[in-house]
Amino acid sequence: MSECDLTLRNGRVVTPHGVVNGGVAVTGETIVQVGAGTQLPKGHRDIDVGGKVIFPGVIDPHGHIGVGDNWGPEKMQSDFATESRDAALGGMTTFVTTTLFGQELRVEVMRGGIEWGNEHSLIDFRLSPVMTLRSHLNEVPALAELGARSFKFFLGYNGEQAVSFGMQAEGIPWDFFYAGCEAIRGAGATAFATIHAEDPDVRDLLIERMRGAELDDPLQAWHRACPNLTEPMQLYPAALIGEELGVRVYAVHVSAAESVDLLRDLHGSGFQTVGETLAAFLYFTAAEADEKGLGAYGKIQPPIRAARDRDALWHGIRDGTITCVGTDSQQYTIASQEGDFWDARVGLGPGYATMFPAVYTAGVLGGRCTLEDLARVCCENNARAFDMYPRKGVLQPGSDADLFVFDPDAMRTTRAADLESASGYTIYEGEELGGWPEFVLLRGKAIVEDGAVITDAALGQHVPA
Ligand SMILES: [Zn+2]
Repeated sequence: MSECDLTLRNGRVVTPHGVVNGGVAVTGETIVQVGAGTQLPKGHRDIDVGGKVIFPGVIDPHGHIGVGDNWGPEKMQSDFATESRDAALGGMTTFVTTTLFGQELRVEVMRGGIEWGNEHSLIDFRLSPVMTLRSHLNEVPALAELGARSFKFFLGYNGEQAVSFGMQAEGIPWDFFYAGCEAIRGAGATAFATIHAEDPDVRDLLIERMRGAELDDPLQAWHRACPNLTEPMQLYPAALIGEELGVRVYAVHVSAAESVDLLRDLHGSGFQTVGETLAAFLYFTAAEADEKGLGAYGKIQPPIRAARDRDALWHGIRDGTITCVGTDSQQYTIASQEGDFWDARVGLGPGYATMFPAVYTAGVLGGRCTLEDLARVCCENNARAFDMYPRKGVLQPGSDADLFVFDPDAMRTTRAADLESASGYTIYEGEELGGWPEFVLLRGKAIVEDGAVITDAALGQHVPA
C-alpha cells in the first residue's frame, strides 16, 4: 500500500452512508480514502484515534463577521482573526458570513470582505452580500461573479432598526423583495435569497407596549413581545414570491413551531424553501434561559421560544423539514449587553465554538437525533445549500480534508475564558457540553490539537461557488 500524508485510523467515521468503523486517509488538502482500517494506506503521520468519532468539519451557514459593538472594515478584520479561531475550537472549518451592512456599493464590501478574510481568517469562508438598497439589486450579476450565491434580505426590520443597518426606513417591502428575486434568478440556478422572516409591525407594537416593564422573566416576556405568528406572517409570502419566480428562498433562524408546520406543508406542495434554525434554539427554551439568568445576553429577534417550539424544531430536523443549523454569531462584548433589558441590542453574541457542542449535547446525548442527523444539518446540507458540495460538508474521497475528532463520552464545563472569541462571554457559560474536538483538520492541515488552536497563521480561504 502506498503512503499518504496523514491517516486517522480506528475511529467511528460519520459518512452520508452511516457511521463506519475505520478511518480517513489524506494526501495534500484532500481526502483520498475513507474505510476500514486494513484498507487504509500508511500515513506519513499515522494516528490511532482510539475509537473516537471522526466528523466532517462544521459549516456555519449564518454569522456576522464585522458586526458587534461597532462595525466597519477594521472590525471585520479583527473578527475574522479572533472568531475564526473560536470557530476552529468547535470543529468548524468553514463559515458563511454576511458582508458589511450599510449603503456602499456591494461589490466593494464583497471585495473587501474576501480580502480581509484571506488575510486574517484561520478557517475557510464565504460571504453573503446584504442587500440594503434597491440600487444594490443591479450589482447581483457582479456579486455572483465574485463567488456570492446567497443574497441577504432583512425583511424583519423597518424604521430605526432598518436605518441602523443602512436600509431605508421602509425596510424591505414586498416589491423590493420581488425585484430582488428577479435579479437573483438572472444570476444562475444555484443563486438564492436568504431572509430574516419576522413581521416587524406587529412585533414592534407589542414591544412598545411592554417596554420599560420590570420583569423577573425577561426572556419569556421577550417571547410574548415577539409572538410566534410574526414568523410565518413573512415566511409564507416570501416563499410564494420565490416559488413564483423560481428562486430558492432560505429562511435563517426559524424559531416557531408554526413555521416548521408551514415549511412541511410547503415542501409537500413542491416548494424548495429552505429552513435553517440556530443551535441556541435547539438548546434553550426561554424559561430555561430565564432560569439561567441570561437576561439581555439571551435576547434575539426572533426570540428563544417555548418547549413546544424546540420540540418542533428537533422534529423538523429528524424528518428533513429543517435542513440547516447555524449560529447567527455577532461579536458583542459584555459591556454592550449591560443596562436596561429593553434597550439592549438583539443578538446572542459569539456562538461559533459552541455550535457543535450544544447541538451534540442537546441532540445526540439528549436522545433527540443521531450523529448522522447532525452531519447532515451541520455539514452536508449547509454545503449543498451554499453550493460547496461535495468539496465541503462530507467525508468522502475527493473532498477537502476538513474534519475533527472528538471523544463521544467526554463532557466539559463551558467557560468563555477557555474560548477564543473576543467577546469574553458565552450564553453557555457553566453548561456541561460534550462534542468538543480534540483534533481539527482544515484542508489537511492540523489547526487544533489536544483541544487548543496550534497556529497563528491565516490559513482560511474564500470558497467561491
Ligand atoms: Zn443573523
